[in-house]
Amino acid sequence: MARLVLKFGGTSVGDIERIKNVARKVKQEVDAGHQVAVVVSAMSGVTNQLVDYCRSISKLHDAREYDAVVASGEQVTSGLLAIALQDLGIPARSWQGWQIPIITDDTHAKARIQRIDTTEVAKRMDETGEVAVVAGFQGVSERARIATLGRGGSDTSAVALAAALNAERCDIYTDVDGVYTTDPRIVSKARKIPRITYEEMLEMASQGAKVLQTRSVEMAMKHRVRVQVLSTFEQAPGSDYPGTLVVDEDEIVEQELVSGIAYSRDEAKVTLVGVEDRPGVAARIFGPLTDAAINVDMIVQNVSEDGKTTDMTFTVGKADLDRTVQVLEKAKGELNFRRLISDANVSKVSVIGVGMRSHAGVAQRMFKALADRGINIQVISTSEIKVSVLVAEEYTELALRALHTAYGLDAA
Ligand code: ASP
Ligand code: MG
Repeated sequence: MARLVLKFGGTSVGDIERIKNVARKVKQEVDAGHQVAVVVSAMSGVTNQLVDYCRSISKLHDAREYDAVVASGEQVTSGLLAIALQDLGIPARSWQGWQIPIITDDTHAKARIQRIDTTEVAKRMDETGEVAVVAGFQGVSERARIATLGRGGSDTSAVALAAALNAERCDIYTDVDGVYTTDPRIVSKARKIPRITYEEMLEMASQGAKVLQTRSVEMAMKHRVRVQVLSTFEQAPGSDYPGTLVVDEDEIVEQELVSGIAYSRDEAKVTLVGVEDRPGVAARIFGPLTDAAINVDMIVQNVSEDGKTTDMTFTVGKADLDRTVQVLEKAKGELNFRRLISDANVSKVSVIGVGMRSHAGVAQRMFKALADRGINIQVISTSEIKVSVLVAEEYTELALRALHTAYGLDAA
């Protein structure tokens, strides 16, 4: 017998038939003798609709009331799934965040979980085998207000619950059957990755792969929760782990040099031409951006040719570009740059793999593969297990295919 947390995303609970299908899946695990807690998302499309309602009344709405509205989608699905389980003869009870409780900080709309008191839920699991059906995406702040965890936050609810319940595993059921070497809609030879490390999954998620919320991976890594990503709709026959397992490095026997290739079109490039080359300039440029809560990602500064001025290039999210330009133009007098150039037509492509730690030449292979296709690299950044390049957006697909082949990831 094991204790499991199962999480079902929006498409998995998208209508009544699908909710009944989820109930049957949960029943299978219960029948196999497991103690089960389930975390559900809202029906697909519902959260978007609720967000739109708030925006259509006021663009600058109160975040506490936004949370009161958008958390409601999960209330509906948790109740419906509990009914569906009871209908199959499985004892089940729904739980809202505040009922458990899942305590968060009060950063409304993107709150962080601080602690979860699982005493009552665990007691019922032990005593009567009752299935807890927990509304994902929501908790309650110390001030007793409903708080949501940011879009995609049900993944984080599930992993946090698995950590608190000391579960054997957290299964994230979704509409894809695992984590792929790259986006299979673009690269038809992409393969499902059987096992990936926390570190790699974290880079994949933060570099643009959308299967798991980044925060949920951070949480899994911190608490060493074994996570599996798998499909609600396909039954992979004959495997203990039909999906992708996200685990510790020592659970992985054969490690590829590069495990996956992520991309993000959500990038914009800004270059400040002719900034002064002296101490304190970077701090003065990025200070106002930090104050405006604009996240800066890749940064390069050229060496100055004349010892007086240099160019500074960096990237921000596409949605932040207009504000970035505004903030910098406003500070132009103080920053003393000659010209600002911006470009929203860029993509970031990243190759990721813990194998890089011990092997040389990974970056070189990337540069060569891109050069062979005539793709110009605009900015490069690296970390211990990742190399990212910025390229013109129209080359995204070509770059992904070239790199997938270059690192030997193509399916046979
Ligand atoms: N329903 C929320 C969203 O759409 C949370 C989630 O599904 O993870 O963002
Ligand atoms: Mg999701």
